[in-house]
Amino acid sequence: MGRYDESKKSSGAKGKKFGHVGRVEDPYLPEEGQEASICTECRGLYQNKRWFFDEKLAARLEGAASVKQVVCPTCRKIKEHYPEGYLTLSGDFLAERKPEIITLLKNEAARVSSRSVLDRVIKMTEEGKDRLVVETTTEKLAQRLGRAVYRAYKGELNFSWAEPNRFVRVYWSR
Ligand SMILES: [Zn+2]
Repeated sequence: MGRYDESKKSSGAKGKKFGHVGRVEDPYLPEEGQEASICTECRGLYQNKRWFFDEKLAARLEGAASVKQVVCPTCRKIKEHYPEGYLTLSGDFLAERKPEIITLLKNEAARVSSRSVLDRVIKMTEEGKDRLVVETTTEKLAQRLGRAVYRAYKGELNFSWAEPNRFVRVYWSR
């Protein structure tokens, strides 16, 4: 049977649940008053204080004088290598089924990233046969990927929040 422990491992952040209160401001969010912006890298749009994808609107806004050309927080996190989530997968089962598990991770990440400008995989690193590390731009995506693997293969899933709260390590092993 698998174990699913979301709160026990975190040191100094005991019992914290998802969407915890009092989180610090994301240093990568755009400044106040920066209304319509378009990311020159991924064509994500920023309007009314949120980032989203809308290809039609992007085509319309592109080149308009009122639209600011920027690099979005996600593309900057990738360039500057600033992960907020780490998912570490390990174990003999991982070693045996690695290509399949990597495909599952890529599909899940693509599904999330196509709808959300903020959630993207920065890097996937194979560390030997039985270990794989996935770095993500948000803690949410690391959690989602960990849960997706757990849903498909059971095993053991743990979450550990570092201080400050904007950073999570997710561990899956089987
Ligand atoms: Zn971008």
